[in-house]
Amino acid sequence: MSEVSNPFFNAMEQLDKAAGYISLDERIHTMLKQPDRLIEVAIPVVMDDGTVKIFTGYRSQYNNSLGVYKGGIRYHWNVTVDEVKALSFWMMIKCATVNIPMGGAKGGVIVNPKELSEGELERLSRGYIQKLWMVLGSDKDVPAPDVYTTPQIMGWMRDEFEKIIGKQDPGVITGKSIDQGGSEGRGFSTAQGGAYCTRELAKNMNMIPEETTIAIQGFGNAGSHMARLLSEMGYRIVAVSDSKGGIAINNKQVTTNKLNIDALTEYKARTGSVVGFEGTTEISNDDILTMDVDILVPAALENVITPENAGNIKAKAIVELANGPTTPDADEMLKKMGVVVVPDVLANAGGVTVSYFEWEQNVKGEHWTEADVLTKLEKIMVDAFHEVWSTKEQYKTDMRTAAFIKAVDRVSVKLTETL
Ligand code: NAD
Repeated sequence: MSEVSNPFFNAMEQLDKAAGYISLDERIHTMLKQPDRLIEVAIPVVMDDGTVKIFTGYRSQYNNSLGVYKGGIRYHWNVTVDEVKALSFWMMIKCATVNIPMGGAKGGVIVNPKELSEGELERLSRGYIQKLWMVLGSDKDVPAPDVYTTPQIMGWMRDEFEKIIGKQDPGVITGKSIDQGGSEGRGFSTAQGGAYCTRELAKNMNMIPEETTIAIQGFGNAGSHMARLLSEMGYRIVAVSDSKGGIAINNKQVTTNKLNIDALTEYKARTGSVVGFEGTTEISNDDILTMDVDILVPAALENVITPENAGNIKAKAIVELANGPTTPDADEMLKKMGVVVVPDVLANAGGVTVSYFEWEQNVKGEHWTEADVLTKLEKIMVDAFHEVWSTKEQYKTDMRTAAFIKAVDRVSVKLTETL
């Protein structure tokens, strides 16, 4: 893997940049250049035909200065050790950006889960825990779902963990279903956090919701809830897309025209895509990124905003609901163009924040109402947004660098105490 495409190399460049702004103590800087603990395990799985196949699994525990390690487990054929390390570093940054008492971790298994039967998938998930249970627990390291890992997989993992330790520990894993101890509001928490950020951003940029047009790439869990929430707040959602293509409202210049998100959600549930929705014109997934709107919300894949299309972006602001939608080179271009980017580590941190609430409820044996969860989430997101914004103003930089500055500073204060 070349340095440019190595995610850990990119992560360390971001660390160096933030460190430069705050003249970070060289000793702390050195300590933050690798995970506290990186484990590779071989997981033998008895396949349905009786043969044994070995799968490689990882857990990277980057840093726990602010709280127990926290981060999802990814099942993907492209998982690499450098990807897992980078993702665990970004989890540390994300938790520290929104100032929740959690550290950063991430796990992964090199596997195409679609090629496994349900039984094989269960044995793999239990096998992951058999090899790693000793470093996990609600007081050590708390995994959650990530790409291609589901609440069902989390259920098997929790069950295996509790069998091994011989007692219940529901807080060992978050992202559980409500009946298993999950939190109210988790299903739409990422979008809710992103919507709070968008609202605060609009205020700071003097945008009035009813006059603010928004395009959203991706209409899955994060994107569709974001469309609903922003629409309820009065914003004009004028274009959305999914993997089959995009749609833009006809006659966008008529200022009362906007997508009816409830009807669109029902249409997508019925037809499998947003494409073909009444009163819209079909556009491509690339076109949606360069549409003439006030705010662009990438909520699908990573690396979609690149040097090839960044120069054509017309939005005044981008709210990164997806993880890593903007490549580093494109980010630099957007900065020069004056486009305000609310970075993923802030914009989509509502998800990990409600995961933290789930863990706290489990540890305390409580169950909070949805209203309680949303009140707490709103405070955390709004405070974090304004802290990052004022850090951006203070250091005359972009919001991503500001978030990293804030996060690295928080971690370094704790790390210094250990020297
Ligand atoms: P999802 O699978 O529910 O939805 C993904 C959406 O993207 C789908 O609508 C899919 O059709 C669409 N899509 C796929 N390929 C596309 C393409 N080429 N162009 C446009 N759309 C395309 O996933 P999700 O949970 O909504 O996650 C979306 C992003 O948000 C990911 O980057 C994820 O890491 C990030 N995120 C999600 C959460 C969460 O809690 N769900 C938390 C943090 C970050």
